[in-house]
Amino acid sequence: MIASVASPRLMLIGGGAVAELPALLGKLGLPHPLVVTDPFMVRSGMILRATEPLQAANISFGLFSDTVSDPTDTVIEAGVAALRAAPYDCMVAFGGGSPIDTAKGMAILAAAAPGVKMRDFKVPAAADRAAVPVIAIPTTAGTGSEVTRFTVITDTERNEKMLIAGLGAVPAAAIVDWRLTLSVPARITADTGIDSLTHALEGFVSKRANPHADALALAAMALIAPNLRAVYANPNDEAAREKMMLGATQAGMAFSASSVALVHGMSRPIGAHFHVPHGLSNAMLLPAVTRFSLEAGLPRYAAAARAMGLASAEEGDQAAGARLVAELAALNRDLAVPSPRAYGIDEARWNGLLETMADQALASGSPGNNPRVPDKAEIIALYREAWEA
Ligand code: NAD
Repeated sequence: MIASVASPRLMLIGGGAVAELPALLGKLGLPHPLVVTDPFMVRSGMILRATEPLQAANISFGLFSDTVSDPTDTVIEAGVAALRAAPYDCMVAFGGGSPIDTAKGMAILAAAAPGVKMRDFKVPAAADRAAVPVIAIPTTAGTGSEVTRFTVITDTERNEKMLIAGLGAVPAAAIVDWRLTLSVPARITADTGIDSLTHALEGFVSKRANPHADALALAAMALIAPNLRAVYANPNDEAAREKMMLGATQAGMAFSASSVALVHGMSRPIGAHFHVPHGLSNAMLLPAVTRFSLEAGLPRYAAAARAMGLASAEEGDQAAGARLVAELAALNRDLAVPSPRAYGIDEARWNGLLETMADQALASGSPGNNPRVPDKAEIIALYREAWEA
């Protein structure tokens, strides 16, 4: 098997790295960025962490801050108009996965012929071209979007979270500064942290796993698992924040070089129809999907349990796998992850959409990478199990 690995050309990793943004732009020869962020970053003043160094270096920049959580095709179109309004030579995406994915979507759509829509790039299409390079600066330890070859954009007409993949979505550079995550509230810390744990685990058990992705996935699990409860309990735990940020980026590199699997395939429709934050919908599914998949990928699930510090090297695969499933359920309890029912989703609407959600999950291709590939009825049964959890 040939592993296909696409990464940013340059990554700056470490506390305070955001101050290096002007130098990074100079190195890449990109003097005129459009900064892409969300309204909270502007309102809270967090964006100054990126824009003050730009101003100090006399770099003139534009600002597009109309991004939304779970970016939509309509926001991407507005963003493309903003990108075309001046001769920008790059975008600096600052924020969680949503602003980063927005910038990626804008770069891909702006490179396309007039009339082409975001949905024309949905997998299995290849989104290999970008109009300008994206420099990604994550402020959550979660999606890994700063390093991945993916962007997830909602088709507003069809109510579908589309997976878009290709070289056009790979940031040219990433600044991974854990200090930017110190202000993330506990709930979002938990949701984004479980998202990265899911990336590492799914990237590791995926049918498309490979030795390069494995090394990153195992390293990420070893960083995330022992620190997730710590950052949730104490947002100011700097040592744990630093490990979570590196873990999230490494998990992103892992799944970008292999793939995600059933959890993500089933999670996107929940996000699209019920607007559950991405990491939270992953968390709602993770214990049930892992239980469902365990026997089909037992040696890998057991190795994941060992990497997470849940089982000793001497313990057999069966025992280690059981510990993993138990831990994922315990983690959900400890991080107060609600079931879909407890989240307040309307039961009749949930039941009415099960067929559609299962079809959308299967169409995304992600379930096909799972160690145990489910049919539609099994996906519906898993949604029902998660509902009751
Ligand atoms: P997000 O970007 O939607 O942010 C969630 C909330 O956290 C927002 O209100 C934001 O303002 C706030 N926030 C962000 N950083 C903060 C900080 N430092 N302090 C205080 N508040 C902060 O959430 P996310 O989970 O980072 O990203 C989710 C999106 O990423 C989804 O659309 C998901 O589908 C996508 N995603 C993409 C990939 C990929 O590879 N491209 C992978 C996984 C998920």
